[in-house]
Amino acid sequence: MLPPRLLRLCPFIAAAAAAPLTAQTPPAAVRAAPTRPAAAQAPWTEARLRGLDFVDLRDASPKLGWKPAWITPGRKLALTSAGGSSLVFELDERDCHLDGVRLFLSERIAAHRDSLWIAKTDFLKTIAPLLRPADHALLLPAAPRVIVLDAGHGGTDPGKSNAKFRLHEKDMTLDVVLRLKELLESRGYRAVLTRKDDTRFSSNPVVDLQRRADFANKAGAELFLSVHFNAVDPKDAARVSGTETYVLTPQGLLSTTDGTKDDLTGVAFPGNRHDLPNVLLGFHLHRRLIGDLKTSDRGYKRARFAVLRFVECPAALIEAAYLSNDEEAARVARPEFRQQVAEAIAKGVDAYARQLAGLAAAKR
Ligand SMILES: [Zn+2]
Repeated sequence: MLPPRLLRLCPFIAAAAAAPLTAQTPPAAVRAAPTRPAAAQAPWTEARLRGLDFVDLRDASPKLGWKPAWITPGRKLALTSAGGSSLVFELDERDCHLDGVRLFLSERIAAHRDSLWIAKTDFLKTIAPLLRPADHALLLPAAPRVIVLDAGHGGTDPGKSNAKFRLHEKDMTLDVVLRLKELLESRGYRAVLTRKDDTRFSSNPVVDLQRRADFANKAGAELFLSVHFNAVDPKDAARVSGTETYVLTPQGLLSTTDGTKDDLTGVAFPGNRHDLPNVLLGFHLHRRLIGDLKTSDRGYKRARFAVLRFVECPAALIEAAYLSNDEEAARVARPEFRQQVAEAIAKGVDAYARQLAGLAAAKR
């Protein structure tokens, strides 16, 4: 339950606390998200569109200190902050761009009454925390010190592969994670690895992923990062390349690949306790990866991956590049590129930790 002081301070948080969640009952052992009723009317204009509550972006954004201006009237809207950041929405699109970084929402942007509208859950759970994190400072954790790094796959599970360059995902992920451990430790973090060699916890993939999360929880992880490389079917291999960053889909929202709600949509997993810091974490990581690697921006996405569901700390999963794309696999084969991946992740972690430390200092 939110402290009454916080509800008084911020109408946005009050409305977020009152936002309806789906009827799914969370597992008994998991603390449900706060559901205290709002103390006041929502401070923005709402409408019921496509069977969901939507918020008028042109009306709501000035209340977060961001100024709306049309790029293309009725179709493309930019919000700009006093600090020069920009967030661009486009009609019918499910992604938006924050300072050029592609970020996926749960629902498509709608048109209504000469404005663009965003689903209320997207606004409350994704956009408001990104645009004005200080409003949420009391709900955010301290900057992390213990970071568990998870090299995807291992042992009898090679993950994705590239035959031409004889690359296996399990080897590339371990190499990146070993480099990342060194970089993080040189910055004063304690980095713990789920695996240090070519092994896995279990030959059963479900058990293996659960054990990785269990390992992180037992190690006292304050941040969990799982590193992977992706692949698509051969028919799409030449066309698809780039970097994706995933965090656990916030409770009640659709994952990026979901078309409709399913049995998992409304469940509060242990990882959902960290929906708020995850929003910031994913953005900082993805911004550094895209900016530094110069790969194509496949998006900051959401998924209910098993490792993300069961870790009890903020967590992200990175698909650094596509091994199925020969041009990109050629880059991955070079140690310099893997070092770049590790450096970009380390810088993203630093940016996230600095933001949390800054917000913590401001709330004292
Ligand atoms: Zn993988």
